[in-house]
Parts: sequence; structure tokens; C-alpha cells
Amino acid sequence: MKAHIVGGGFGGLAAAAYLIRNAGVSGQDITVYEADERMGGSFSLGGSAETGYILPCGSVFDSHFRCTFDLLATIPSTSDPAVSVKDEFFTFNERRPFRDRAHIIDRNGQAVAHGRRFGLSLRDGLDLARLALTPEAMLDGRQIKEFFSPQFFSTEFWWLWSTIMGSLPQHSATEMQRYINRALALFPHLSDMTHILRTPYNQYQAFIEPLVAWLRPRGVNLLTGTFVRDLALSLPPDRITVDRLDYERHGAVTSVAVGQEDIVLVTTGSEAADLAMGSMTEPPRPRDSGRSWALWKRLAEGRTDLGNPDVFFGAPRIPDSRWVSFTVTTSGTEFIDQMSALTASEPGSGGLVTLKDSGWVLSLSILHHPEVIGQPPGTNLCWGYGLHPERNGTFVPKPMVACTGAEILEEVLRQLRFDKQLDAIMASSICIPCDLPYVNNIWVPRRRTDRPSPVPEGSTNLGLIGQYVEVPREITFTIEYSARTAWEAIRLLLKRGPPPPPVYQGQYDPKALFAAMKMFVFG
Ligand SMILES: Cc1cc2nc3c(=O)[nH]c(=O)nc-3n(C[C@H](O)[C@H](O)[C@H](O)COP(=O)(O)OP(=O)(O)OC[C@H]3O[C@@H](n4cnc5c(N)ncnc54)[C@H](O)[C@@H]3O)c2cc1C
Repeated sequence: MKAHIVGGGFGGLAAAAYLIRNAGVSGQDITVYEADERMGGSFSLGGSAETGYILPCGSVFDSHFRCTFDLLATIPSTSDPAVSVKDEFFTFNERRPFRDRAHIIDRNGQAVAHGRRFGLSLRDGLDLARLALTPEAMLDGRQIKEFFSPQFFSTEFWWLWSTIMGSLPQHSATEMQRYINRALALFPHLSDMTHILRTPYNQYQAFIEPLVAWLRPRGVNLLTGTFVRDLALSLPPDRITVDRLDYERHGAVTSVAVGQEDIVLVTTGSEAADLAMGSMTEPPRPRDSGRSWALWKRLAEGRTDLGNPDVFFGAPRIPDSRWVSFTVTTSGTEFIDQMSALTASEPGSGGLVTLKDSGWVLSLSILHHPEVIGQPPGTNLCWGYGLHPERNGTFVPKPMVACTGAEILEEVLRQLRFDKQLDAIMASSICIPCDLPYVNNIWVPRRRTDRPSPVPEGSTNLGLIGQYVEVPREITFTIEYSARTAWEAIRLLLKRGPPPPPVYQGQYDPKALFAAMKMFVFG
């Protein structure tokens, strides 16, 4: 039996590890095909202290990533192979929890005081409960804004929620409901972020490198620079069976025969699809390759049982989905000193700082040192993103997506009112922008049939994994979602190993319910 995995992101690598660990498949019988030049998918790491680091992703996790941590408990960490990735993660978070004291900053560079009940009225609370309790089948295609008054979207709650989770009023009510139930325990902590967890260093080195280091010696064939163009399906009535896989590598196309007893797991898309980098002096040049969902589009063409990629990908989706993120590498002391003074926090412990009056709605975080293994002392990193990159900035009157790194850094510093230090900070910092046109497409309104099942009806050897696959109750924009789809697809296809643990649901957890109620009653 051979296993072919299309996509070498967290989901594809987790699938390879589950195959070995849960289903007893030999590593030598597993091949991972990754179109990019390295494994990792959305989790990447680039640049250097000299040229400016590039970290496209933020870091928001919680302790209920059950499939993920079940797996990472068996994977040794890169920095200390005697410790598992899971233990390293939790030890770090116990020692250095977030304690955000200045989460929202206004146009005067002043921290906005945290208000009672996050500014929510009784009606807002009832609306949240109404959405949480609506049967999911009744939310198909509906938008968040249908469930709330316009005032809700100007409360402190919404500022915090939307900038941590990524949701906008026009986004999916289904996803919002899932997030409310899944994240109920976090409600009282949205401002200080104390129950939100992060990786001890960037996600590429924290998660991807250890997984690759575990898979490689077990003989897993990790093929990078390898784009899977097509799968040949035989379609006897009511059955889907993959017979052949065609991939392109170094300009040559190779066909691999797929037997009835083999399995093929396809990652159907990527939040980092068509990612483009800029520099301090150049804005990112938007790309339009469509590669990460091309195979899904091809497979789903002319049929209804494999979902609808057009709901998530393609030019019409970008306005509701794009972020521009940025990484600042600074070798001076001014930026870090000023931020520490403003937030009353040392680097890495402050959590997100949201500049709500920037037209782009900027959120940023000073990262713990070292964020990158080997990062030189005296070099500090800040990661941030704009939730509305197509609007004009306030001090830089251009869409963020058309801005250079220097222009983005200027908007940040002027919003923070660091005008006196601006020249010194600009001279000692490199800001690299990163265009992510599809990062937030997991939030666009969808119907239940828009994402296919991990094992489509009638499939004998095709499984689908990643963010664009339907599993009940779980929330996307998380590695947990990709890990869960991989575990589920393998179990259903091979009928081996334990089922995935149930999705954590805050509404059935008395502690979470009590904490949320307390917040509503006492503020
Ligand atoms: C800015 C940002 C911030 C994030 N923050 C968090 C966070 O804080 N917490 C969290 O849990 N998650 C976060 N995520 C989400 C997380 O990165 C993803 O959930 C996870 O990495 C998805 O893994 P995946 O393997 O499903 O997809 P990806 O990592 O996107 O990988 C898919 C891979 O499949 C490859 N591929 C697709 N089609 C083909 C083909 N035909 N042939 C070969 N290769 C193909 C692509 O090249 C890609 O590398 C963030 C994502 C982004 C972009």
C-alpha cells in the first residue's frame, strides 16, 4: 500500500505522521508532493538579520488543539530533542504568558482603557447567544452582520475579536458561530490575551522543521518543487477511485499509477495562496498563479460532490479576504524602548497592539527574542498586519497593498505618535511587507456543500485535507483544522487507528460558560 500526499504544509506533514503513527504505514511507502521549494506551506521563514526577516504568520493558539498536540507530543523539538514539541510549547507559555496591558491604541497614541463588558450591551449579549444557539443548517450563506445591530461593530469587543480572529461584518455567520462556541473560554481574556498561546519561536522552526526531521529518517519521500497537475479518476457508478497521479518536476511530467489499495490525500488550497513579498523600497507585486487550488478546481469541475473552490478563490474573493502582513527587523533600541514604555510590557509578553484609527486597522506584536533560532542579540522583531489593506492609510494616503515597507512603518510610527524617534527607527529598521490575498477566505460566507468531506461519498482511495474541507464544529484558520481533516481522512479510508478526539465546545464546558457569564454580569 502506498500513500500519496499532495501539499507539504502542516496538514500534509501531519497526515504523513498520522499514517505512520496511527495506521502503521511504513514511511518508505509515503510520498509528499509540494509545489514550493520547501515544505511548510503557509508556515514559512525567510530573510536574515541583515536583509530583514520575513515571517508571514502571526501566532494564536489555544490549549484545545487536540489533534495537533496529540501528534506533537510524539515529535521531538528542534532546540532540544529530549523534549517534545508539545512540552516545549506549553512550558514556554507557562513561563511567558501574554499579559496585554495596552491592546487598543487611539489616534493620540494612547491606550484605550478596557471597558466594562467590552462595551457590549445586553442586546449584544443576547444577539451573541442567539447566533450561538441557531442550528448551523439555518446559517447557510448568511453573514455575521445579519445577527447584530450596527453598534455591535463599534464595541471594544468587536475591535478585539475581529483583529484577533480576522472576522469582518460581511463574513460567514456559520464560522462566527463555530468561533463563539469554540472560543467561549477566551471571552473574558480578549483584552489581556492571557489564555491565548503562541509558539516559543516562529512556526516554521517550532512546527515544520521538527515534523520534517521526524519524517525524513523514517523514509518518507519529501518531494519539493513538485506540482501535482492532475489525478485520473475512474468513476464507476457511485464510486470515486484515483488511478493515476501526474506531477511536474524540473519541467518534466511524470505519471504514477495508483492502485486500489493505495490512498491519495489532497490539500485543496492554501491561505497563503499567491503570497507576494515586497521590500523596504518596493510594494509586493500581486501574483495570480492560482496554483494552490488548481487541482481542487480541476477535480471539482462539472460535479457537485467535491465542493466549490470559486467560493473561496479567484479575484472576486480578494476584497473580503486580503491582508497585508509585515515583519520589522530593528537593530536600534528606540522602537522597542518606546513600545515597552507604551505597553508597560517587555518584548514578547504584550500580545497584540491594535492601532484602531489607522485606515488599514493595523495590529502588531513585538516578538519574544529570539523569534528565530540564531537571531543575533540586539536585533528585535515585530510582526503585524492590516485588516483593511485596500483602504487608504491615515498618514500614508494609499492602500496598504500598494505600499513599500518604509511607508507601512511610517504609518505605524505616526499612529503610535513616535514622531520624535521616527528618523532613528526608520534608519535602524527593515520592514518587509507581504501580500496575502486569500488569507482570510476561510471567513467568506459559505454553504455546507461548498467544502467537500474529508472522504467524499463513494470515494475508495481519495481523501481531502486542509482548511477547505468540511468537518463539523471545528474552526478554520488553525493548524488544528488541517490536522483534524488529515486524521479523519486516514481513519475513514484505511479503517485503522483511533478516531480523532472530539472538538472542544465551550458551550458544554461549565468553566467556560461560567467565565463568559461572569464577564457579561460583572464586566
Ligand atoms: C498570516 C497567517 C497567520 C496564521 N496564523 C495562525 C495562527 O496563529 N494559528 C493557527 O493555528 N494557524 C494560523 N494560520 C493558519 C495556518 O497557517 C494554516 O491553518 C495551516 O498552515 C494550513 O496547513 P495546510 O497544510 O492545510 O495548508 P498550507 O500550509 O497552506 O499548505 C498547503 C500546501 O499545499 C501545496 N499544494 C497545493 N496544491 C498543490 C499541488 N497541486 N501540488 C503540490 N503542492 C500543492 C501548496 O503549495 C502549499 O504549500 C495562519 C495562516 C496565515 C497565512
